[in-house]
Amino acid sequence: MLIKNNSCLCGSTKHYNKCCGVFHNNNLAPTAEALMRSRYTAFCMNKTNYLITTTLPEQQKMLIANNIYKISNNTKWLKLEIIATKNGKQQDPTGIVEFKAWYTDIVSGLKHCHHETSSFVKQNNHWYFVYPD
Ligand SMILES: [Zn+2]
Repeated sequence: MLIKNNSCLCGSTKHYNKCCGVFHNNNLAPTAEALMRSRYTAFCMNKTNYLITTTLPEQQKMLIANNIYKISNNTKWLKLEIIATKNGKQQDPTGIVEFKAWYTDIVSGLKHCHHETSSFVKQNNHWYFVYPD
């Protein structure tokens, strides 16, 4: 469906099943960047539950209560570009990933860029996205 040539939507040249699909199937992302990429792919594929469960556990109820990751049919994600990463490697407790995610607003037809610097923390060997306050 959304997967062109079976290469992963996160922009790696790997097959989805050997890239973000691994993490969507309950395997732990080894680095903050891997989690970030798999969350972008989850956005593309409307995997709301994955977006919730990969956010810091104490923030998950708030995300659900506020419908933060409700599915939008008005957004078509185009491309992920990782700008920079700081820490977030296997041995690190925290990490930062700066990225740009390009999308088309289907209603207006306009192309936009979401530029974000995200924080990640590791708890019990799981990397989690920290939802910004
Ligand atoms: Zn991927």
